[in-house]
Amino acid sequence: MAQAVTERAFATELWIGGAWTEAQDGRRFATLNPATGQVLAEVSEAREAEVDLAVKAAREAFESGKWPRRAAADRGRVLYRIAEAIERHADELAEIESLDTGKPIQDTRRIDVPLAAATFRYYAGFADKVHGETIPARGPFLTMTLREPMGVVAAITPWNYPLLLATYKVAPALAFGNTVVLKPAEQTPLSALKLAEICAEAGLDAGAFNVVPGHGDSAGAALARHPGIDMVCFTGSTEVGTKIMQAAAEHNTRVQLELGGKSPHVIFEDADLKAAVRAAAFGIFANVGQVCTAGSRLFVHEAVREAVLEGLVQAVGKFRQGDPLDAGTRLGPLVSAEHRERVHRYVERGKEEGARLVTGGAFGAPEQGFYYLPTIFDDVNNRMCIAQEEIFGPVLSVIPFRDEDELLRQANDTVYGLAAGLWTRDIQRALRTAKALQAGTVWINTFGMYDPTTPYGGYKRSGFGRELGAAAIEEFTQTKTVWIGL
Ligand code: NAD
Repeated sequence: MAQAVTERAFATELWIGGAWTEAQDGRRFATLNPATGQVLAEVSEAREAEVDLAVKAAREAFESGKWPRRAAADRGRVLYRIAEAIERHADELAEIESLDTGKPIQDTRRIDVPLAAATFRYYAGFADKVHGETIPARGPFLTMTLREPMGVVAAITPWNYPLLLATYKVAPALAFGNTVVLKPAEQTPLSALKLAEICAEAGLDAGAFNVVPGHGDSAGAALARHPGIDMVCFTGSTEVGTKIMQAAAEHNTRVQLELGGKSPHVIFEDADLKAAVRAAAFGIFANVGQVCTAGSRLFVHEAVREAVLEGLVQAVGKFRQGDPLDAGTRLGPLVSAEHRERVHRYVERGKEEGARLVTGGAFGAPEQGFYYLPTIFDDVNNRMCIAQEEIFGPVLSVIPFRDEDELLRQANDTVYGLAAGLWTRDIQRALRTAKALQAGTVWINTFGMYDPTTPYGGYKRSGFGRELGAAAIEEFTQTKTVWIGL
């Protein structure tokens, strides 16, 4: 299976106005295979000039192209075809994603690609179900609202779920008649370029969707501050989210931010321990912890602490770490050598702070890949750096608690508020805790579930605005009020 992709040429140019385009002076940057450290492809590098071309193409497609003027049902039909084309190219997309991110092929086949198709299909059905209202204003008038697209949407995405997180933005934006310029993360640009190819194959109008791979501080910054965009939607770190807001402020551009997290995952003493431990392990070690909603702070009731720790160590022992293209691999490498160094620095810091290293805490094999062992710390205090800062790697902090008040105080003692999970058989406690946790998503007796139908986003410094579900209507449309004198 690996042969099929490595022998084929990846799409590596910029996709602008419905055509592959070289960057000025043929400028390129390398994207690596994190499992080997080798160059996977050299990709055309957009900077300010190329971003400008892409925004102009999207602007023209919005102002005078077919896409926003198509009947909504027609846009829906094209989105259905894109969903089908994603499924037709599923194997290839999964391999591209695994090669570029280092994510196990079983994950890209089961999660990334099917959910990307499902997201397009969900918004295909939504395209003609978004409309305004008539409103009983005072006086001899008929008043109504129209729901109109925002215009040109800039989308900037991270490297942990490159295809999927792009579709969270691109599918609803297109469904509601916007045009889009997408800047994928420089570490993982290949699946976004493949998506452009797939959209064209499915009949999407030229200029409606443009892709400009490049670095954050050049291409990303140029896109966020470009006067020709009407909104910027961003998924990435809280730190860069601040920069995006500052750049967008120059032209008072609308911003939507999906940022970092340090999600509490709680195991009460009456939980179904087997299921809770399985979820706790999956909640931090899936995608080797490079998940914004990772349950990185595991709050465990003292009464079950020993049993939970034992279960976690056993679960970790069974994870197979290795070649992402091997169907049996459960854990791949981290995305880059720099990121692995960063994760390791946090582990060293945890030891210095007095947390007890239970397992892991070192580079994994093979040496040339960016592997890191699944790592568990016990005796963590919630004020420690490893419990407060987003590590974005396979590092779990186990924090013991005795009563609910103490738990809630600590669980909410973080600048983040993306997600939370809890395990208990007591329905009142479950709902009381779910209400009290400051997070955009709370999972009860399950963890890490996503669906295109359910709104997703953060409280506090984890961002604002909501992706997915009907919530995307608010994000990707604007309301016009029309008064008619009678
Ligand atoms: P990052 O913030 O470093 O980069 C994200 C994107 O922003 C990349 O495309 C990058 O090139 C671009 N960028 C960087 N600097 C920029 C600038 N000055 N102006 C404009 N664009 C710029 O994030 P990452 O390292 O790629 O991803 C990891 C982070 O993403 C974590 O913090 C994680 O929690 C977060 N994340 C959040 C969600 C969510 O839904 N809330 C989902 C996935 C990842």
